[in-house]
Formats: sequence, C-alpha cells, structure tokens
Amino acid sequence: MHCPFCGASDTKVIDSRLVAEGNQVRRRRECQQCGERATTYETAELLMPRVIKQDGKREPFNEDKLRNGFIKALEKRPVGIEAIEAAIDRIKRSLRATCEREVSSRMIGERVMKELRDLDQVAYVRFASVYRSFEDISEFREEIDRLEKKRS
Ligand SMILES: [Zn+2]
Repeated sequence: MHCPFCGASDTKVIDSRLVAEGNQVRRRRECQQCGERATTYETAELLMPRVIKQDGKREPFNEDKLRNGFIKALEKRPVGIEAIEAAIDRIKRSLRATCEREVSSRMIGERVMKELRDLDQVAYVRFASVYRSFEDISEFREEIDRLEKKRS
C-alpha cells in the first residue's frame, strides 16, 4: 500500500491484530521513507442478499437504513450503540445464513423486532406499533397482551 502521507510506493506492516470479535484485521503500517504511521482495517467482503419490498420491488440491502431504524426506535432509551451494532451484526449474519439471494423486507422486520424485544421492551413496542400497522393488527394486539401478561 502506498504511503498516504508522502506517496512512497510501499509501507511496512508493523503490527497486525484481530478486532471486532475476530471479524476484522487491524494493521499498523509505517512508511519507510517519511516514518509516518497509518492504520488499515481489513474485513471480508460478504454479499448481502437483496431485499424484496412489500410492493415486489427489489433494492440493495441497506445497513444504514437498518441502523437508523434501531436508533429511532431506541431514542432516549438506555441502550448503547455497541448493543445496536451487535444486533445489526446478528441480523446480517442470519440473513447471510439463509443463503438466499433475495430476502423479503418483512423477514428483516421480523428480525429487527426480535432483537428489539431483547434489547428494550419500550423500543420494541414503539417499533412494532409502526411496523405492525402495515401488517396484521390482531397479531400485534396479541403480542402486546403477551407482554402485559409477562410484566404483571
Ligand atoms: Zn511516507
């Protein structure tokens, strides 16, 4: 890799370690010419299945959209960003594990609900009330009843 500081044609790897639970390699590089150091991260490029929307249109899997959904549902709730990232990782892994080239947006929604249910009940109800309004409302009612029963 070229030095990002002086443009020298090669940099030397001085340290290499696994990060992000072993899913990423972090490398410290040093330029032999100017002595500046830089860090690079290496991850496997894994293809996510495409998403089939309710109306049948296809779109690329969008991790930012997923993250925003979590952040919105968890607004002002005591859940840290690391827990959100871990949930996103689990969802991505489970979608890849289906080995399908396309998955329904509904399937992703169900996974998000499952993660939210474990993270924070208030956020879960918040998300579910929006999500379920497009789905079967009676199913949502049952879920609320189930939660209320569990709490009492
Ligand atoms: Zn350099």
